[in-house]
Amino acid sequence: MYSASKDRYDKMVYKRVGQSGLKLPALSLGLWHNFGSVDSFENQKAIIHQAFDLGITYFDLANNYGPEPGSAEENFGRIMAGDMKAYRDEMIIASKAGYYMWPGPYGEWGSRKNIIASANQSLKRMDLDYVDIFYSHRFDPETPLEETALALDELVHEGKALYVGISNYNGQQTAEITKIFNDLKTPFVIHQPRYNMFDRHIESDLLPVLKKEHKAAVSFSSLAQGLLTDKYLNGIPADSRAHKSTSPFLHEEQVEETIKTVKQLNQVAADRGQTLAEMALAWNLREPEIASVLIGASRPEQLLDNVKALDNLSFSREELQRIDDILAA
Ligand code: NDP
Repeated sequence: MYSASKDRYDKMVYKRVGQSGLKLPALSLGLWHNFGSVDSFENQKAIIHQAFDLGITYFDLANNYGPEPGSAEENFGRIMAGDMKAYRDEMIIASKAGYYMWPGPYGEWGSRKNIIASANQSLKRMDLDYVDIFYSHRFDPETPLEETALALDELVHEGKALYVGISNYNGQQTAEITKIFNDLKTPFVIHQPRYNMFDRHIESDLLPVLKKEHKAAVSFSSLAQGLLTDKYLNGIPADSRAHKSTSPFLHEEQVEETIKTVKQLNQVAADRGQTLAEMALAWNLREPEIASVLIGASRPEQLLDNVKALDNLSFSREELQRIDDILAA
């Protein structure tokens, strides 16, 4: 029987989410990969326990995480019903709706029908009464923003979500829906964009909007799915995401295209006394609007490495310039 480490809150940094009352750990765990029906359940439990023992309190899910879609929520629900049940009030659990989940016109996007039906399905799969954050997973160009916002607001009023968030919305879409949430007094607190050294599009578009609105972000794919680590420096390991057929979003070609840059970044990290993963996470956290960086992990040891990012979060101007120059080359 798992019993959480007594010193789990000693080292983690907790950052306030915008101007809300919520605080998130600087590092959070995402369950997009490694928690499906194709993955070892014992390993999943070990990763969740390791995360919680390190002070990681935020666990990020979505309706479609797996594979099979939905199986990550089911597996997480099994873990919650067992060893983790005692810690529910120490955890922030999030889910999302918006990407394809079931056939027909209601199984994706941002209609009231999709958001509410999907949230109900997620709660059932996880066997939870409520989630802490429920996200609209992507902007829907065909549904009025007000409808999506009202559906999220209703989840809060029904006690099915404590806070709401949005993901993958651009700056302008974010500004528009923020206004609606403000009018409704919805506890909209967070945006979840992709952000890492290889994808900096939010720096000029979204982050200025979040700053103006006093909102925060939690970045996803903060390690570019593992590219920004030392794991591909000497080839492509058989058990890596780039090699696995169950992970169709990272290909061996992406490793080959980035490896030269990764090797140079790895040298900067080494000069800072960090691994590349640690430096990549610290680099994301240098942005004041980033409250937390989401990471995925295929084994508990990766979390032990990644939390060491907190030991050196500051960058000199020269280091930042060196990184910019490498990325611009
Ligand atoms: P990362 O960029 O953190 O990549 C995670 C992968 O990197 C791991 O599975 C592992 O790969 C490798 N890795 C992690 N730590 C180390 C380490 N210390 N050393 C070596 N390799 C390491 O994140 P994800 O792309 O998985 O995204 C994180 C989370 O963000 C998701 O789980 C999800 O919750 C969220 N997300 C949200 C999206 C959205 O649209 N809102 C979209 C995508 C993700 P390996 O398996 O090869 O060991």
